[in-house]
Amino acid sequence: MNTFQELGLNEDLLQAITDLGFTKPSEVQEKAIPILLNNETDLVALAQTGTGKTAAFGFPMLQKINIDSRTTQGLILSPTRELCLQITNEMKLYGKYCKGLNVVAVYGGSSITDQARDVKKGAQIIVATPGRIKDMISRRLVDISKIEYAVLDEADEMLNMGFYEDITDILSNTPEDKCTWLFSATMPKEVSVIAKKFMENPQEITVGNKNESTSQVSHEYYLVNARDRYNALKRLADANPDIFSVVFCRTKRDTQKVAEQLIEDGYNAGALHGDLSQNQRDLVMNAFRKNQIQMLVATDVAARGIDVDDITHVINYQLPDEIETYTHRSGRTGRAGKTGVSMVIVSKSEVRKIKSIERIINKAFEKKDIPDGMEICEVQLMSLANKIHNTEINHEIDKYLTNIKEMFEDTTKDELIKKFFSVEFTRFYNYYQKSKNLNIAEGSFDRDNDREDGREGRRDFGGKSDSTRYFINVGSKDGFDWMKLKDFLKEQLELGRDDVFKVETKESFSFFNTENELKEKVLAFFTDFKHEGRFVNVEVSENRGGGGGGRRDRKRSGGNRDERKTSSGNRGDRRRSEGGSKPRRSGGDSNSDRSRRSDSGSRPSVARRSRR
Ligand code: ADP
Ligand code: MG
Repeated sequence: MNTFQELGLNEDLLQAITDLGFTKPSEVQEKAIPILLNNETDLVALAQTGTGKTAAFGFPMLQKINIDSRTTQGLILSPTRELCLQITNEMKLYGKYCKGLNVVAVYGGSSITDQARDVKKGAQIIVATPGRIKDMISRRLVDISKIEYAVLDEADEMLNMGFYEDITDILSNTPEDKCTWLFSATMPKEVSVIAKKFMENPQEITVGNKNESTSQVSHEYYLVNARDRYNALKRLADANPDIFSVVFCRTKRDTQKVAEQLIEDGYNAGALHGDLSQNQRDLVMNAFRKNQIQMLVATDVAARGIDVDDITHVINYQLPDEIETYTHRSGRTGRAGKTGVSMVIVSKSEVRKIKSIERIINKAFEKKDIPDGMEICEVQLMSLANKIHNTEINHEIDKYLTNIKEMFEDTTKDELIKKFFSVEFTRFYNYYQKSKNLNIAEGSFDRDNDREDGREGRRDFGGKSDSTRYFINVGSKDGFDWMKLKDFLKEQLELGRDDVFKVETKESFSFFNTENELKEKVLAFFTDFKHEGRFVNVEVSENRGGGGGGRRDRKRSGGNRDERKTSSGNRGDRRRSEGGSKPRRSGGDSNSDRSRRSDSGSRPSVARRSRR
C-alpha cells in the first residue's frame, strides 16, 4: 500500500493529512491521485460513498492550482447544499497550509450577494450546487471562463435530481481544454452520456463493482398498508433482536418523527438529518459507532458520511424518490466482507418500484412476510436462551446465592427455567397476543388505507388529494417560468422531484402545491427569506387550483405568522402504534424506567445487542 507521500503530494498537503489523522490513502485515492497529479486528463471514477472521493479529487486540485493567482481555477459541482458545504469544509481542511487559498461555497438558500462578494475576493476554487452557480453565471457574479479543473461530484445523484440541463449550461461557460473529473457511486446510462459528451478519452477507475450492489447484501421487501408502516418497522426490529441498522426515511421531518417514536417506544434509536447541528450529529454518530444506538434513522444525505462497517440491516422505511439512491442505501450494509440485509417496507402503490430497483441492482428481491406476534415472541425467547447459554458466570454472585437458593428449594429445574423465561416472554406475549397480521396480499388492496401521508395516490386523487396550494409573490417578471420556479423551490427547500407540483406562474405572482405534510416546512422556510434582495412571501392560497380541500385557508395578507403556522401545521398525524410502546420490563415504573434508559442509552429488552 502506498503512502500519501508516495502518491506525490506536496509538503503542505502532507502536513494537513497528518493533522487530519489519515494514515493511508483509500483505494480511490490511491488510484486517482497519481493519475490526476501527473496528467492533464479527464477522469471517470466510480466508487461507493464513504470511500474518500473528496480527497481523491481535492488533493490533486489543491496541488495543481496556482494559489498566488486570484483567478477561479477549480469548480466542484455537487448535488445538494449539505454536500456542497461538506466538500468546502474538507477542502479548507486539506488546504489549511496552502497560504492564500480561498475556497468558496455557492449554494441556494443563502444570500447570493454574500457569496458573490466572497467569490470576488478571489476564489481559486468554487464549490457549487448547479442551480445557484447557474444563477450566478447568468448574472455575471462569477467567472468560470478560466477554470482548469471541473469536478462533477456525485454525478449520478446530480442527474437523478434533474440537473442535466444545468450542468450542460454551466460547462458551456468553461474552457474547452479544461480537465473534467467525474465522480459517481453508480454508472447509470445518463452518467455515461455525460462522460461521452463532456470528456475526451477519460481515464477510468473503479473501486468495487460497477452498478452492482454488494453481493453480500440480500434484498427483501414487505408489503403492508401504508398506515401500518411504523408497526411493520417495529416488528422487523423485534424479530431481529441483534439488529444494528440504518433506517431510511425520505424527509428530515419523517426521520425525526420516526426516531422520536422509536425512542418513546423503548428502542435504542437516534435521528440523523440536516436540521441537526454538527454537534448533535456527532453525538448521534458516536453513539451509533459504540453500538449504543441500534436503529439510526437517517435521511439519504445525512447518511452519506456513515462509515460503520458492521451494520446488519438497512431498512427502507420509505423508498427513495430516485430509485438509483437505493444502491447508496443498501451499500451501507454488507461491508468489509460481512453479510447484510436490505429490507424495504412498501405499500401497494409503490410495489412496482421494486421491479425497477431489481433492474438497477441486477438482483432479485425476496418478498417476505412481516412476522406475526407469536413468531416474534419465539425469536425473542430463543435469543434470550442463547444469550443465557453463552453467558459466563460471574462468581461475584455466589455470595448472594444462599437466600436465592433457599427460595427455590422446592422448585424443579424445569419449573425454574419456565419461570425464568416467562419474565421476558410474558412481556412480549402480552404485547403481541392480539396483534394482527400486517401483511397484505398483492391484489387485495384497500386504496384509502394506503394514504398515511397523503402522498400515495396523489396523482390519481387529483383535486381531492391532501395537498396544499400556496401563493408566492414572484412570477414571470422575476424571470420565473413554471419549470424554473419548480426548480427554485425544489432546491431551496431541498425537496424531491415530485414534491412540488401544479406550479403556475403569473406575471407578478405564482401558485404551487405540495402535500400537506410539507406545509409547515414550506411556510417556516419562507418566513424570512430574501431572493435577490427582496422578501419572498409564501402563503397558503385560497385558489383551489390544485387541492387544499375544504379547509379554511388564510387570506394572504391577514393573520400573524405564528398563528398561521399553528393553524396550518398538520400535527394530527401521530402514528397509531401497535398498543403504543414496546413491551417493557414488568414491574418497573415506566416513566423512571424510560428516563433512566435514555440516560444510559440502553434498550429495555434483555435481548439487547451485546457490545462488541
Ligand atoms: P465520499 O465522497 O466517497 O462519500 P468522503 O470524501 O466524504 O467520501 O470521505 C468520507 C470520510 O472519510 C470523510 O470523513 C473523510 O474525512 C474521511 N477520509 C477520507 N480519506 C481518508 C483516509 N485516507 N483515511 C481516513 N479517513 C479518510
Ligand atoms: Mg463525496
